[in-house]
Amino acid sequence: MGSLEVICGPMFSGKTEELIRRLKRAVIAKRRVQIFKPRIDVRYDAEAVVSHSAQKLRSIVVDSADQILEKVLADTQVVGIDEVQFLGPDVVAVCENLANRGVRVIVAGLDLDFRGVPFDPMPSLLAVAEHITKEAAICVVCGEPATRSQRTIAAEDLVLVGAGGAYEPRCRKCFTVEPSPATEPPEQELLPFLR
Ligand SMILES: [Zn+2]
Repeated sequence: MGSLEVICGPMFSGKTEELIRRLKRAVIAKRRVQIFKPRIDVRYDAEAVVSHSAQKLRSIVVDSADQILEKVLADTQVVGIDEVQFLGPDVVAVCENLANRGVRVIVAGLDLDFRGVPFDPMPSLLAVAEHITKEAAICVVCGEPATRSQRTIAAEDLVLVGAGGAYEPRCRKCFTVEPSPATEPPEQELLPFLR
């Protein structure tokens, strides 16, 4: 039986890592797997689903949700879609179509935009999904679980891809709708805290 799984959360919450983990396990189980991602995500390698921790799986780049239906092979059993929020409202029907056909569909995407507003089509995907995983990052300001992507530079665009330093994870309390200066990146300061 087909199904839809949605992995959502803010940037830096490990959504893509979780998607890759599930897809790798499907490959180990000898399921036939295809992976798609929208062309808008031009970070890093254009042909791979790449997460911030540099785990990789080859993927097929599509310009629209409908192209996924065109490119899914007849014997594919598992379909993964990364950055699904960029594929627009049509992706909901595409996921439903595949799941109704018996495909296990696993998608990962941002549930909130930089204003903290639900990122269409994620609300609809979450409503029709069988399984939902909400990942949290770590708030760089206070260390609590972070559910929001704080924009740290001023820009009007809803989508600001590939600008690595343009966002940081924050919790509800530390998040602001207005761009807020970046908190000092923690990486180089973590070592003294490792006991
Ligand atoms: Zn916080």
